Amino acid sequence: MSELRWKAIQVAQSRAIPEVEIPSGKVSDYYRSNTFTDEVMKELLTAESYEKVSQAIRSGENIEGKVADEVAAAMKTWAISKGATHYTHWFQPLTGGTAEKHDSFFDVAGDGQAIEKFKGSALVQQEPDASSFPSGGLRATFEARGYTAWNPSTPAFILYNRAGSGTLCIPSVFFSYSGELLDAKSPLINSTACLDKAATSVAKIFDEKVTRVTATCGIEQEYFLIDKALYLSRPDLVMCGRTVFGHSLAKGQQLEDHYFGSIPSRVNAFMVDFEFEALKLGIPLRTRHNEVAPGQFEVAPTFEEVNVASDHNILLMDVMKKVASKHNFQVLFHEKPFAGINGSGKHNNWSVSTDTGVNLLSPSDDPNRKLMFITFLVNVIKAVYDHADMLRATVATASNEHRLGANEAPPAIMSIFLGSTMTRVLEELENKENFDIAIGENAYVKLGINKIPSILLDNTDRNRTSPFAFTGNKFEFRAVGSLANSATPMMVLNTIVAKQLEDFKKAYDAAIAKEGDSNKEGVILQILKDYYKASKNILFEGNGYSKEWEEEAARRGLSNIKDVPEALKAYISPKTIEVFEAMKVLNKRELHSRYEVRLENFIKKIQIESRVIGDLAQNHVVSTAVKYQTRLAETAKSLVDLGLKEEADPIINIIKTISYRVKVITENVKLMTDARKKANNQEDVHETARIYSSEVKPYFDIIRRQVDKLELMIDDQDWPLTKYRELLYVR
Ligand code: ADP
Ligand code: MG
Repeated sequence: MSELRWKAIQVAQSRAIPEVEIPSGKVSDYYRSNTFTDEVMKELLTAESYEKVSQAIRSGENIEGKVADEVAAAMKTWAISKGATHYTHWFQPLTGGTAEKHDSFFDVAGDGQAIEKFKGSALVQQEPDASSFPSGGLRATFEARGYTAWNPSTPAFILYNRAGSGTLCIPSVFFSYSGELLDAKSPLINSTACLDKAATSVAKIFDEKVTRVTATCGIEQEYFLIDKALYLSRPDLVMCGRTVFGHSLAKGQQLEDHYFGSIPSRVNAFMVDFEFEALKLGIPLRTRHNEVAPGQFEVAPTFEEVNVASDHNILLMDVMKKVASKHNFQVLFHEKPFAGINGSGKHNNWSVSTDTGVNLLSPSDDPNRKLMFITFLVNVIKAVYDHADMLRATVATASNEHRLGANEAPPAIMSIFLGSTMTRVLEELENKENFDIAIGENAYVKLGINKIPSILLDNTDRNRTSPFAFTGNKFEFRAVGSLANSATPMMVLNTIVAKQLEDFKKAYDAAIAKEGDSNKEGVILQILKDYYKASKNILFEGNGYSKEWEEEAARRGLSNIKDVPEALKAYISPKTIEVFEAMKVLNKRELHSRYEVRLENFIKKIQIESRVIGDLAQNHVVSTAVKYQTRLAETAKSLVDLGLKEEADPIINIIKTISYRVKVITENVKLMTDARKKANNQEDVHETARIYSSEVKPYFDIIRRQVDKLELMIDDQDWPLTKYRELLYVR
């Protein structure tokens, strides 16, 4: 066996479980102990400053001046008391991850004395080198400088390194000198503001007491976990986050024995460890279990306000990676690390709720709330129908493409699953002729809305193939990739729903102005009926993976964009620009910059994969195949020498097959390289991306097919790449 593969397996098999600090006491004793919470702030700030900060947190605004100085002093005291030595603005550039640049609290005063310093100005604003972050052309034409600014909508926290020293992380937004947004978080904050405004004005129709509406979000995170040594033995995992070769497992997930099975002890120790760290950071983790595929797991928190939930999700991913390394594991967040078994996603559960404590997507027994519920439900459906392409674009990446549109959950067609009860109610809504309901008559009873039970779903009324499913009191957007920053898809969802609610309110006000307010319910129902009729094509209850649905969706005129560069075009469509500018979430230039950053990211990912494929195919696979052939040839020759000509035939056939596969591989690696050159020579990035997608990528499968066949033919002792059964089962 290849030396590296053999060693990796031995190391993985003989791992000891590291010492895990078992948290003493209840979760509530240490939950949020590493975050600068509201309670800590209240204790350390004057009442006046505390009030100003609280106000800024509610409005999502930044804090300056004297208050900032006071908060900075409080943060410094708190952080140093907890062993922090450094501080950093923690922000989310368009790379998809997070960025930090650590500065020490330590400084030397004029008299040579060491002091610990952290001024309000350093808390409020910093100037990282913007040119090292992607800006999609925003930098080229404008000032190169970029700024990060503290945004108190999520609390500061301390991250510790392995040596135990901590860094105070200050959640921040990132923008250019001329004010363009260069990050994923700022537009999310903008979108929560416009959603609040639009949703509150609609909620007020039903309940005057509502003064604020927030989007809530709970993000289920799937991931693979494999031993670090096995991971390092596969150059493709290291370079691309996924295996580009590997014959599928004889035993994959077909026995369905992994899902919800008992968690292996080494994995469990890892989970206990990272959950402890996450809980201290205020990430409210609640659920852990095995996922469908071998080596695949899931973690899920309790839902929170969407901006907090999104920050917590990427912070969690970071914590998991760090803790995994202590356990000699590698976490794979790639959407499709292994062919032939399930990939990973995030399920973004999303809803809207009022400051009066009502979940607007939850049916209740209160008759007035039923109409409010239907109003919000139908408006979300309409928003998703109208902007399905933009929602699709937010989840379009090179890695997520392995799921969307590739016979894997969920499909590239955006559709909404409602469940049988709500489908029936909305059909009834459509079929009622008119809503000119006389005063005193109960419109809801007539429509059957009063018959909606307050709990809609049982576990049989679920659809795991739908990209956007109503699950009883929230929508679950399941097309988000496991590797993604949720901020972007959630920002788009908030914005399109806000726009839709604004339109609804305008239509409602206009109708009331015309008809008077004696028949409010009738007016609302009439508008909802029109919306439902206009958007019901997006509703689908069947199997989202089936061929029939693809055909049916095409007949309905729904998009089915499988290709990333094509899907990304929605970022710059006139419709998108109009809505995002109107809602003041992103302007045209910012949308264009995001479009370009994403295209470039796609190009780079495919380019790297293509290089790794060429490299492994030639100097790992073909070289091994040729050596093996030589051995076979020697055997065949000695048989012939012994006069056993017929007996040599099967061996000669193997030699011929290997030769054929080697020929296909080398020829196609050459063609792939030529296609890459062609792509790289384009002026226009969209054209480069298009060629990568339609002319480079198709070689991946052609080459892989032959490599995976060779894996089955060549002596196991010689095969250089750690096999799937080893990657996924050795632990
Ligand atoms: P599932 O059946 O999909 O496992 P769960 O009830 O476990 O559903 O919830 C999955 C996720 O949805 C959790 O993170 C949970 O906190 C979140 N969730 C529940 N209610 C809401 C809500 N109103 N808004 C947003 N997320 C929610
Ligand atoms: Mg779920």
